[in-house]
Amino acid sequence: MHEHHSALGLVRDLKPVEPVTLVRPHAARRAARFFADHFPGKTLYAVKANPSSDLLRVLWDSGVTHYDVASIAEVRLVARTLPEAVLCFMHPVKAEEAISEAYWKHGVRTFSLDTMDELEKIVRATEGASDLNLLVRIRVSSDHSKLSLAAKFGAEPDDVAELLVAARQASDALGICFHVGSQAMTPHAYSSALERVRAAIVEASVTVDIVDVGGGFPSSYPGMEPPPLATYFDVIHRGFESLPISYSAELWCEPGRALCAEYSSLIVRVEKRRGDELYINDGAYGALFDAAHVGWRFPVALLRESEAGSMTAFSFYGPTCDDLDHMAGPFLLPDDIDAGDYIEIGMLGAYGCAMRTRFNGFGAEDVAVVSDEPMVSLYTGQTASEKRSATVTKLY
Ligand SMILES: *Cc1c(COP(=O)(O)O)cnc(C)c1O
Repeated sequence: MHEHHSALGLVRDLKPVEPVTLVRPHAARRAARFFADHFPGKTLYAVKANPSSDLLRVLWDSGVTHYDVASIAEVRLVARTLPEAVLCFMHPVKAEEAISEAYWKHGVRTFSLDTMDELEKIVRATEGASDLNLLVRIRVSSDHSKLSLAAKFGAEPDDVAELLVAARQASDALGICFHVGSQAMTPHAYSSALERVRAAIVEASVTVDIVDVGGGFPSSYPGMEPPPLATYFDVIHRGFESLPISYSAELWCEPGRALCAEYSSLIVRVEKRRGDELYINDGAYGALFDAAHVGWRFPVALLRESEAGSMTAFSFYGPTCDDLDHMAGPFLLPDDIDAGDYIEIGMLGAYGCAMRTRFNGFGAEDVAVVSDEPMVSLYTGQTASEKRSATVTKLY
């Protein structure tokens, strides 16, 4: 891995023919410190957002000691990379063999579940262990989030009480968890979910030791600029404090996106221009899955030293031979952009780099560490729209 001062500097020095992934360890460090210092409970990193072992080590060094893993491969990866990390197996539907290996081989003690069947599976796989932390996942609304996680997992209100009572008997510590959906645009998402937690506790009348508010903490993207994270933490803290639970109960969260979105961006080259469509050398099968399939808008900047004129809204085509390899945007870039120009696409650290395939022989192999600031940051208070003018100024 090479190091460069900035994205622009790298392009000037290397003129890369293939896309290049940029990583900014300082940005991940800042995000992790923010959660460690300000979240009023324990922070678990949701590994699926970006399983890079370099990133895992950065988070560990910045105070993140707990990891939300969802597959046996993620369990093995984190166990190998961070042998002292605490692993929490938070996928509510697991293979029994995976539970068994996690428990007996990797020391995993925390599991989530949303059915009686899964509870029985956990009890069987751990041979009735008495040291389990079991978290019952309840279904909550995804109405305030950009990506729903409401359809697939989570016990229905009618089943929660029975499940809590049964899980209480099988656990050392009992928890309730939920996920409000990814990129929750308002802290209300958490206060309404915590109301569901309250109802569940009251109905089941069980002692609950852990309340886990899951992921969903937002990052900043064009057209999706959320309120400051501190307001989320305040709302969660107040909601948690008012629950009918003991003083020793713990509050957990499982951010993925918010911890790593700013960690990575991508340098792509324009290979062709057709009107307001730019053919670039990465796309839907590379780091731009969300841009193609859910119309996510990522911040973009032209990496060029000459003066930028007025802006045009572009869409992108990726490099594969598939029509689906299209990112509608709109992506605002200077009018005179053309083949041979380089673009930095920001905020790909979460669910960008993690989703890449090598379909059709395309994609970024090269990784470079850069020390400049990410295009947008929740942790420096710079929004996507402010940044655009700042970038243009910097490039002059
Ligand atoms: C995906 C996921 C997360 C992380 O979600 P973000 O929206 O990236 O914060 C956390 N917990 C669970 C159970 C998940 O499936």
